Amino acid sequence: MRAVVFEQFHQFPALKDVERPTPGSGEVLLKVAGAGACHSDVSVYREFDAEHPGNIQPSFVLGHETAGWIEELGPGVTGLEKGSAHLVYGPTGCGHCRQCVQSRENYCENTATNPALAIGLGRDGGMAEYVCVPARNLVPLGEADPVAAAPLADAALTPYHAVRLAERPLAGGGRYALVIGLGGLGQIAVQILTALTGATVVATDTKPEAMERAAARGAVTVPGGEGQAERIRELTGGRGADAVFDFVGAAPTVELAKSSAGVGSTVVIVGIAGGTVEWNFYGTAYESALMSTYWGSIADLHDVAAMYRAGQIVPDVETFTMDEAPEAYRRLEAGELSGRAVVVP
Ligand code: NAD
Ligand code: ZN
Repeated sequence: MRAVVFEQFHQFPALKDVERPTPGSGEVLLKVAGAGACHSDVSVYREFDAEHPGNIQPSFVLGHETAGWIEELGPGVTGLEKGSAHLVYGPTGCGHCRQCVQSRENYCENTATNPALAIGLGRDGGMAEYVCVPARNLVPLGEADPVAAAPLADAALTPYHAVRLAERPLAGGGRYALVIGLGGLGQIAVQILTALTGATVVATDTKPEAMERAAARGAVTVPGGEGQAERIRELTGGRGADAVFDFVGAAPTVELAKSSAGVGSTVVIVGIAGGTVEWNFYGTAYESALMSTYWGSIADLHDVAAMYRAGQIVPDVETFTMDEAPEAYRRLEAGELSGRAVVVP
């Protein structure tokens, strides 16, 4: 079968012919409906090296945002119907640590000794015609379209988890949420904030087209450049935002996040660009909390799937054939996509 393979650090992924996998004990074979291309994949093949955790060493098939239909049940798997559509929860924890037993496999305490970090990160993912996944990682989609659903596994799960972290400051009337970076994750963050909170969503991106799409979803957009932080503060009645979500994480965006944060706010850094900011008593809003977050729990993904089925999350998707998959990554890197790239094998 055809697959997009990450073969070596600092090397662009390649389209290859690989053997169709066979489900092991407790696994199912999925026929892939769609697999999303996440910006984190770019960091993995461009920036990571052998110093990074042993459990994401190449080579493996990319694709940690996958949806598909059950083709075959592995030994010991019961209660799942062939042909039914499912989303794949990516993280593969040890299953027995303090985090895993709370459904937080994304924060597994045994990451260093687990054979892989996640499906599509250290073990074969969904950018192929078929993928084997543990049955316990499946989230049912019912009758909903599995192609547009693929990005939910990360581009919706991660912002959903981030938004839930900021529930307290966003509860109540007249609240403001700031979303920085309106790509795959950011566009869905706007939708989740709209569905779950009454907050006014303020949004920014360097691309006017991305801001137009957020504006069409009800966000108040503020372009970058001089006076941006002042403009955001003005929009929030001078108080600053109650929650800030940074889907870039570069030095200028974490600085913007800090300067836009109001008293008692929550600032969540989601983007992995590694920018730093000074955070001390002086110049930081009182009782504001700065946190990072990584992916989400499988329980969160069930909530996300329910929101998708209810029409509250509608991912913008650009589909690519398997042959076009390298082009999808090229356009993702060049910032030329206007929706999440989903490879449809
Ligand atoms: P994307 O490429 O689809 O979107 C990034 C957006 O940010 C683009 O619209 C781009 O124009 C915008 N942008 C870039 N620089 C900017 C700046 N200085 N100011 C404002 N906007 C700017 O990427 P994505 O797939 O949505 O991922 C976003 C980030 O989140 C990446 O860093 C990715 O690695 C990370 N990520 C983190 C997690 C996690 O669990 N923490 C999960 C998935 C992705
Ligand atoms: Zn664990």
